[in-house]
Amino acid sequence: MNFRIHLLIASIVFSIVAMAALAQHEDDYNTLLAINHYDWTVRLDFGNTLMRAACKVEITNNSNRSVKKLPFVLYRLLTVREVKSGGTSLSYVQNIRSFEDQVRLQSNFITVELKKPLLPNQSITLEIEYDGTLHGYTEVGWNYVRDKIDPNFTILRPDCMAYPELGYPSNKINKQFPKANFDYRVSITIPDSLLAVNGGTLVSTNSVNGQTTFEFKNMEKAWRMDIAIGKYGRFTDNGLTVYYFKQDSLGAKKVLTALQKTISLYTNWWGPLNNFKGFSIIEIPDGFGSQADVTSILQSASAFKDSTEIHQAYHEISHCWNVDLKAPSPRWEEGLATFIEYLTIEKLEHREYLDYMTDWFLQVIRREVTNDIRLKTVPMVDFGKHGMTDYSYSLGMIAFRILYEILGEEKFNHSVRVFYKEYSDKEATTEDFMRITKQVSGKDMSAFFSDWFFTTGYIKYLDRQSTFDEMVMLYK
Ligand SMILES: [Zn+2]
Repeated sequence: MNFRIHLLIASIVFSIVAMAALAQHEDDYNTLLAINHYDWTVRLDFGNTLMRAACKVEITNNSNRSVKKLPFVLYRLLTVREVKSGGTSLSYVQNIRSFEDQVRLQSNFITVELKKPLLPNQSITLEIEYDGTLHGYTEVGWNYVRDKIDPNFTILRPDCMAYPELGYPSNKINKQFPKANFDYRVSITIPDSLLAVNGGTLVSTNSVNGQTTFEFKNMEKAWRMDIAIGKYGRFTDNGLTVYYFKQDSLGAKKVLTALQKTISLYTNWWGPLNNFKGFSIIEIPDGFGSQADVTSILQSASAFKDSTEIHQAYHEISHCWNVDLKAPSPRWEEGLATFIEYLTIEKLEHREYLDYMTDWFLQVIRREVTNDIRLKTVPMVDFGKHGMTDYSYSLGMIAFRILYEILGEEKFNHSVRVFYKEYSDKEATTEDFMRITKQVSGKDMSAFFSDWFFTTGYIKYLDRQSTFDEMVMLYK
C-alpha cells in the first residue's frame, strides 16, 4: 500500500527545519526520497565474523526540488568501501555519528555526492559496497538487538542497520520519511552446513566449494528485509512454511497446524483468497524480538514451546483478506486485524480474551485523548493524512468490536467477505465499506460510522466514561 503523504510531510519538514537543533541538516535533508528496490548481495565469513556486501538501491526523488546529495545510515561497525552509479565511482563522506536525539545510538552516516542533481520524479540506482561486523545495539537499551555474525545463529535486519537505509542520525527526521515500501532481491552466501531463510520466495540455491548461495525475492511490497541463518528445519503445506530449530520440531508442527486452522477459519468466514502467495514463520532464539513483515513473521522460540504465543500470526494472516484503501489510507485495516487477532484467540484457543483487550484499548485511548488533542478533532478516516496511524490499531480495534456486536458474527463476516470480493483488485473507501455493511445487514449504519470513522463523535462516550456495552447499546 502507498502511505506517502506528501503535503503533510512537507509541512512537517518545514516546521522541523525551523528548529535550531536540526539546522545542521538544513541544506541537504530531504525526506521525500524513497527507495523502490533493493538488490542486496551478502557473503558471510564466520571465521573472521565479517560480512561483505554490495547493495544496489534504486531511489526516487518524490520532492519538487532537485537533490545533489543522498543520505544513508548503516550500522556503526560497517564501513563503506565504494559507491558507484552506472559503473562510475561517486564521492562520499562517512562518519560514525551519535543520533542527535539518542546519544547512545551510533550509526555510520554516509552522504553520497551525485555527479548531477537528481531532478523531481527522477530515479537513480546506486551500488554501495561495504563490509564489517555486527555487535548488536544493547548499549542503546535495545536488548533484543544482539545481532552478530555467528554460525549458531545470525540475523541480518534493519533493527541492526545491516543494510543502508535513507536517513540521518536523527530519529525526529527519519520519522518524516514515508514508510519504506519496496521490492527486493537478496543473495546470500554461507557455508553448506547452514540454511538461510527469508520471508519472501526462495528463487535459487547454488553450492560451490562448500559454500551455498541462496537467492530470495519479496512476494509483496516490503518495508524490511530479514535474513536468518542457522541450522533450520522446514515444514511446509500449501504455501505455509515454518522454519524451525531442530530441537523445536514438535512445537513447529503445532505452529503449522495453527496456521492451517487460521487460514481455514478465515476462508470459512470471508471466502477463498484470490491471490495467496504464501506465508511463513521463521523461528528465532528467545531474546531476539519477534517481528512481522507482510508475508512472514520472525517468531521467538517461546511460541514454539507455548502455543498461546501465536496470536501475532492471526493478525498478520487476516491482513491477506484486506482491501487497499485509497491513499492517504486511514489504515483502519489495522484495527480490524487487531480485533480479529483477539477474536481468533477466543475461537481457536477457547480462551476469553476480547473483553479484556477491549477494556485495555479503551484505557489506552482515554489516556491518549488527554495527551494528544488531535484525537478530539481528527477522525479515523483522516489518520493517514495526519500521520496518526498508530491510533488505527487501538481506536480501530474498539470500532470494529462495536461493529461486530451491532451486526452479529454472521453479518459482520459476510460484510468483510463481500467487501473483499468486490474490492480485492481495486482501491476502496470507507464509504464503500459502510455501504456494504448496510446492504448486507439491511440496517442503516451511518450513526455508528459517523461517530467512529467520519467524525470524532466517540469522544462523548469517553468523556461520559461509558462502558463498552453502553456504547454498543446506543447503536442497536
Ligand atoms: Zn497489522
